[in-house]
Amino acid sequence: MEKIKVAVNGAYGRMGREVCQAILDDGDLELTGVFDLLGRGEDIGEVLGRQKLGLLIQNLGVDTLAGRQARVLVDFTTPMAVMENIRTSLQAGVRPVVGTTGITQVDLELINEWVEKAGIGAVVAPNFALGAVLMMKFSQVAARYLNQAEIIELHHDQKIDAPSGTSIKTAEMIEAGRRQKPGRREELLKLAGARGAVTGDVHIHSVRLEGLIAHQEVIFGGLGQTLSIRHDSYDRKSFMPGVIMAVKNVTNLRKMVYGLENLLDL
Ligand code: NAP
Repeated sequence: MEKIKVAVNGAYGRMGREVCQAILDDGDLELTGVFDLLGRGEDIGEVLGRQKLGLLIQNLGVDTLAGRQARVLVDFTTPMAVMENIRTSLQAGVRPVVGTTGITQVDLELINEWVEKAGIGAVVAPNFALGAVLMMKFSQVAARYLNQAEIIELHHDQKIDAPSGTSIKTAEMIEAGRRQKPGRREELLKLAGARGAVTGDVHIHSVRLEGLIAHQEVIFGGLGQTLSIRHDSYDRKSFMPGVIMAVKNVTNLRKMVYGLENLLDL
């Protein structure tokens, strides 16, 4: 069977490097293009601490991407750059698999339009860790019975956006899972932000600390009890099986899929 040709954008980044390693180690995939903002022309093999691969890091553009014969572009860049990258990918006829966070509901609608126009598939997932996807799904189920919920998301101190894409998606899934909304009480806030950010009726608290990778705890409250559902990514490798699954699936899609859970049989 012919290998699926894949390009990676954000190849100098923490996630981008891990994705390149995972593609190189997968027998069904072939890394044919590597891109980053500066595109300094370094050999990706050397950047990864492997032998030279003859694959130089370039600047992403419709022409440079089209020249790599890739069927899929994996994007792990920044919230500021991701929409332009997705548009470039679709204009080049290359299916985007997007892990970059900070994508809003309005952005998703725009991506949907671009995908329909391009007539190819796309996957956008705020979290590619299988355990995190299960944590979100279990939270949706728990919300049916325990309608009070708060989210604590914890990430490394280099993360730009807050709250995390995963926490916002979890809050949306909790809202969708609830049979009734929780009652509200008036509160006296002595410091602004003391109760975190609120989406729908779910409070989200963001922690940023050196030493963390990506973690989230969802706490449900009920009469005389709480239920905590927690997921921890201790290593960026935790995201790779999900990324590889999305890369292999996106070639069979003709629409945008938002959330890895929609590629799983849950
Ligand atoms: P990072 O280490 O800062 O890497 C981002 C890379 O993208 C950097 O090399 C950056 O270059 C480059 N870049 C910036 N703008 C670009 C552009 N316009 N075109 C091409 N490359 C560009 O960040 P990270 O930790 O890898 O995370 C990347 C993104 O993935 C973040 O949004 C993060 O929240 C998200 N993430 C998602 C998941 C998931 O499962 N979905 C998991 C982990 C992280 P410069 O350094 O020169 O700016």
